[in-house]
Amino acid sequence: MQVITQVNELRETMQALRCRGKSIGFVPTMGALHEGHLQLLRASANDNDITVCSIFVNPTQFNNPEDYNLYPRTLDADIALLQATGCDYIFAPTPEAIYPQQNMLQFSFGKLETVMEGEHRPGHFNGVATIVGKFFNIVQPHKAYFGQKDLQQVAIVRQLILGLGFNIELVCYPTVRETDGLAMSSRNKRLNADQRKIAVSLHVALELARKQLVQVPLPTIKEAVAAYLKDKPEVALEYFEIADPLTLQPLTTITDVQEVALCIAAHVGPVRLIDNLVVNLSEV
Ligand code: AMP
Repeated sequence: MQVITQVNELRETMQALRCRGKSIGFVPTMGALHEGHLQLLRASANDNDITVCSIFVNPTQFNNPEDYNLYPRTLDADIALLQATGCDYIFAPTPEAIYPQQNMLQFSFGKLETVMEGEHRPGHFNGVATIVGKFFNIVQPHKAYFGQKDLQQVAIVRQLILGLGFNIELVCYPTVRETDGLAMSSRNKRLNADQRKIAVSLHVALELARKQLVQVPLPTIKEAVAAYLKDKPEVALEYFEIADPLTLQPLTTITDVQEVALCIAAHVGPVRLIDNLVVNLSEV
């Protein structure tokens, strides 16, 4: 496994591998790796000749400078974890290498970015599309691996691939959870012991909503989720939404749909967490 920090070195290495007929899988991450990331890496190593993992805390997708500064950075531990996954190249550039000039690109994803994460984190998806687009150009992978944990991000990347005509297959894997159900996240490392315990209430709230889906009107489910979280110490609900899993648009009824996405964002102490469940209504 090789660590590369220079854009040109990675570009040329990938070019040479493609010329030799090697298939390339790419897993973009912001590091502080956990099992959610590692399953993507193992999948890529299984599907492709070569696997590249980027570790880059992308400044342009943070709308909150404190969140960017406090984001966990654990490169040495990440390298050690990646050894066992079958990863071949780690791309760990500096912000200056990626952004030699101030980013001026502006993407628009229409309605997709006016809801949930797009609404609550202005500029976030512009930063995501910018970095994913840049990395796709440098690596030019055959397949790129993303987690359902960031469901709206998957929809944005799908649109980016379609919109710009990248010849890349998007592969999505389910959310990996801690044993109590909390979705794994690099930001969980910032929770203290009490906050960590209470953080599971996001998952419990999603399960509560899932159980009510076919019996209870959607507005009542939303009220129940808000009421459940209201008494939880240090938990501040930002949104809970019942949405179409592909368009991410809020649903008012589930009579004509097969699948729904239950999406939640909340602060637990100082840390903002998101989670979702995609529910097949025939299985409820
Ligand atoms: P991040 O480092 O948080 O930007 O995440 C990098 C990739 O890993 C993204 O595609 C995420 O959706 C995915 N990911 C993060 N956490 C999880 C998880 N708990 N389960 C599955 N995928 C995840």
